[in-house]
Amino acid sequence: MGTICDLTEKRQLIVTGKEPVNNDPVNKILIELELNTFLPAQIAIAEKKKAGTYGICIDCQNPIPYERLEVAPHAERCIRCQTAHENNCSD
Ligand SMILES: [Zn+2]
Repeated sequence: MGTICDLTEKRQLIVTGKEPVNNDPVNKILIELELNTFLPAQIAIAEKKKAGTYGICIDCQNPIPYERLEVAPHAERCIRCQTAHENNCSD
């Protein structure tokens, strides 16, 4: 097992088809992660873009700042609403 960095690089090789999946258990885990985590996130973003709701805060309906979307492309709330949401949840 390598570091997270190695895994990220390995994932890149697999999704771009540069490395065969074979029977390597690490590769299989990476593929599963790809299908269960990365792909659904990409699809959710694509669907929001199609519906025209991408980048709109689900709580206050204000646009989410571009800088926030850049670091968290799947963000559903602006920073203010996200903070309020997290505070509510920890109560
Ligand atoms: Zn908001």
